[in-house]
Amino acid sequence: MILMNAIVMLVTAAIGAGASDDAASPRWLRGNTHTHTLWSDGDAPPETVVAWYVDHGYDFLVLSDHNLVQNGERWFDVSPDGRLTPAKVEAVRDRFGDDWPVLDRTDAGGERMRLRTLDELKARFDRPDEFVLVPGEEVTSAFRMAQVHINALNVDETITPRRPDGVQATIQAILDAIIAWGEANDRPVLAHINHPNFRKSLASVNLAEMRGERFFEVYNGHRSVENERIGDRPSTEEMWDRALVARLHEGAGDGGMLYGIATDDAHDHYAANAVSIPGRGWIMVRCDRVEPDAIIGAMRRGDCYASSGVFLDDVRLEADRLVIDPAIVADAGEDETLTIEFIGTRVADGVPGEVGEVLSRVVQPLGSGEPSVYRFAGDELYVRARLTSSRPHPRPYASGDREMAWTQPVRR
Ligand SMILES: [Zn+2]
Ligand SMILES: [Zn+2]
Repeated sequence: MILMNAIVMLVTAAIGAGASDDAASPRWLRGNTHTHTLWSDGDAPPETVVAWYVDHGYDFLVLSDHNLVQNGERWFDVSPDGRLTPAKVEAVRDRFGDDWPVLDRTDAGGERMRLRTLDELKARFDRPDEFVLVPGEEVTSAFRMAQVHINALNVDETITPRRPDGVQATIQAILDAIIAWGEANDRPVLAHINHPNFRKSLASVNLAEMRGERFFEVYNGHRSVENERIGDRPSTEEMWDRALVARLHEGAGDGGMLYGIATDDAHDHYAANAVSIPGRGWIMVRCDRVEPDAIIGAMRRGDCYASSGVFLDDVRLEADRLVIDPAIVADAGEDETLTIEFIGTRVADGVPGEVGEVLSRVVQPLGSGEPSVYRFAGDELYVRARLTSSRPHPRPYASGDREMAWTQPVRR
């Protein structure tokens, strides 16, 4: 699929060279698809949240509040010991002007502020070819103790959480509702399963069995979600490999690829070192327009990678090779390194070998930007790449967190 995109890109570039100026060439867009505001359990008004991402160079953002899209009239009490303090309102006024905060008196004589709607936020922040808010929601359900949280992207009406009998049935009912909304509204939509290890809720079988959708969070920046392996419980990355083998080899679910993304899941928008802050994990999407439909379309094609700090210039499938071009890190020190690992699962005589085997590993200077190539032997069910910088994450999810990137699995 990446190869096909490369061909499409070449054709687009060729057409663009001789024809109209508005055939923009694809570039990497940085976005976060999972963040909360005062509309649900975040600690900041939505404009404060969006402003952080605009200020930090993001191209798109999804405000994914629990079980709602930010529309309709919603008032929030201002109080010194509440979630919306006078100081937070003052900061909004400083940033957006005296006319921006909509304030009113409460019946009890206090003050309240109306939360700005998605449409109002889009009018304020969207800039052609620079930044766009993509509508979304974190559809939040559970079956017994298992938390089932699924983000719906490019959906601007609330999807009601389903609660049928069973974890997989709950997952599938939510996915089906999101897919049906996209079909009914003739719009590309995307659903991703969130933080599978949160409260030990989901397992690789749940990722394997999903039908009609193929995205999950391999990295979620909220400190209570346990991305990493704990005891005998697999990490989210191990779950990814297990689910890939189940889907691609055993035909589990719809037998399709499974793509990994990184997100913030930010709720804490003021403290620098809190449980869930912005800027920990994001998605890079290769896209020619800063528009929701185009961004979702590119993600759906797998033309994206997950990042917590490592950037790529290119990732492409060329005949029998997977090629990764890490971006040059101009300010890298001499002893800083980048480890590039190609990970996959081989099949011999119809039987999968080690699941998620490191097929090759290169350690190179972080600053070099040296391309890395994996040549397929022919027995790989899939191959994906993990890049790990020696540089500590500046806004770490956990102690020891390094800047990383994860490319999508490909089949030759
Ligand atoms: Zn969640
Ligand atoms: Zn969340």
